[in-house]
Amino acid sequence: MKQSLTFIPTLREVPADADVKSHKALLRAGFIRQNASGVYSYLPLARKVLSKIEQVVREEMEAINSVELLMPALQSAELWQQSGRWEAYGPELMRLKDRHDRDFALGATHEEVITTLVRDEIKSYKKLPLSLYQIQSKFRDEKRPRFGLLRGREFIMKDAYSFHATRESLDETYDDMYKAYSNIFSRLGLNFRAVIADAGSIGGKGTHEFMVLSEIGEDTIAYSDSSDYAANIEMAEVVVDYKASDVALKELEKVETPNVKTIEEVSNFLSVDAANCIKSLVFNIDGELIVVLARGDHEINDIKLKNALGATSVELAEENAIKELLGCLPGSIGPVKLPINVKVIADNAIKSIRNGVAGANEDGFHFVNVNPERDFAINAYEDIRFIQEGDPSPDGKGIIKFAEGIEVGHIFKLGTTYSTKMNATFLDEQGKAQPFIMGCYGIGVSRLLAAVAEQFQDEDGFVWPKQLAPYDVHLVPVNLKDEAQAQLSGELYSILKSYRYDVLFDDRAERPGVKFADADLIGLPVRVTVGKKASEGIVEVKLRSTGETFEWAKEELVDRLNEFFRTN
Ligand code: ATP
Ligand code: MG
Repeated sequence: MKQSLTFIPTLREVPADADVKSHKALLRAGFIRQNASGVYSYLPLARKVLSKIEQVVREEMEAINSVELLMPALQSAELWQQSGRWEAYGPELMRLKDRHDRDFALGATHEEVITTLVRDEIKSYKKLPLSLYQIQSKFRDEKRPRFGLLRGREFIMKDAYSFHATRESLDETYDDMYKAYSNIFSRLGLNFRAVIADAGSIGGKGTHEFMVLSEIGEDTIAYSDSSDYAANIEMAEVVVDYKASDVALKELEKVETPNVKTIEEVSNFLSVDAANCIKSLVFNIDGELIVVLARGDHEINDIKLKNALGATSVELAEENAIKELLGCLPGSIGPVKLPINVKVIADNAIKSIRNGVAGANEDGFHFVNVNPERDFAINAYEDIRFIQEGDPSPDGKGIIKFAEGIEVGHIFKLGTTYSTKMNATFLDEQGKAQPFIMGCYGIGVSRLLAAVAEQFQDEDGFVWPKQLAPYDVHLVPVNLKDEAQAQLSGELYSILKSYRYDVLFDDRAERPGVKFADADLIGLPVRVTVGKKASEGIVEVKLRSTGETFEWAKEELVDRLNEFFRTN
């Protein structure tokens, strides 16, 4: 492709509104432009990288007999009402009306559409299993669209769905997907890990996330320093067996603590270890106000809390509601002398508290020498705190460390959640109607573009690996007004194309400095510069990844490039 004919609007300045390096580089090198918050145009270079990512995804999906289709982005509200998600999905679902005032949504995901599609066409176990996928734009009105393509409101996803007659069959496809995903991310050259994850609003048991390790990742991964255990911090279990020490119990006492609210203030003011303070919060759990306790040195994990109680909605209670229930501000809550019908859920570590400190449900006061069971009742002990670095690994091997990750893929065993709600059944061997057992499997294709962009760059711009580069070779004549340079670069352009190289030919009338800076920004694996030695038939070749340069005669260029593209 001649550069004068394509559309690569590079920028000299680093855009001020971009805060991570992938976003900056994608803007600077002319790959993307923002249209609205979280909505982007993929310019020609980005389109080419996306195609390469998609190609890898397609090959690995076909290899496990998942078949491509394409479903509508525009989805009738009725489908979402049947699954119960018209309400449950909340403001993230983009909603609109047609001219007849009928409700529609822009597809945030496609469980509803595919479940009805398969329900209406597949009647017998003989047609199962069935695995289908698509690559398509999704719409989610994210609360905080950010980091460019990493969290968009319109983004490209590969979503696959599988249908089974038995659990074993689902397990097999799930394992195939797990391997296919690992192949995809390895082939893209990413540094990733598969981690145990939370099934979230989609429901179901058995789910992994694929995380690209990166300092800008929004997720924290808890992993063992001596085994392959890895889990999203949202899910990582705490397996410590907490026991109280046998120190003698002291008498409960109320003390004055003016202006003391946070655990840090309490522990400083009363000179007690945070581990012996009780952190008390009031949560609104499915409409009921519940007091939730954790040790002062721990953080409550509301996802674990939600899962432990089998709740659908868990939120911190409003200040007004707390005042009305307990008569104090959030900083003074405690479990002692609560109104009779208020439930108390405690993290397991509360068992270790002896003669501890807790809020007195009265502003400016705390209780000291507080002891669980003796001074307050607990409805249930649960594992509801975030794991911490240094905790034992849940698989019993080694200790936990943290890393940041970008979630690029997610696989779920859905079970019969959707098929039951949407009445999607098949006839089993006995001729009995059974709900389909389902799985769903997503990859953030446009998020992957950002993840690779984050990983493959240096201070001058992108450094694309061969399998992802938008073009193979950047052919750059220094001065096209020079007869010999014009002649040789034209000739090389034809030769390279005839050998199936995808060549970007910089035929622009720009200064050499501009051309070289753009070439570095765009970051193709090989730059072939046609300069002063053109008249002798010699070109300079520069490898973007190492910066190595060579002078090669035009006759040897193709052989040498073949070698480079075959081996590196
Ligand atoms: P997240 O926790 O990042 O919001 P999610 O759990 O909502 O992700 P899924 O519903 O599992 O995501 O979607 C499948 C994949 O689509 C994710 O693994 C991610 O790679 C990608 N994805 C999800 N939301 C976005 C978004 N707003 N922008 C770009 N990619 C996204
Ligand atoms: Mg999300």
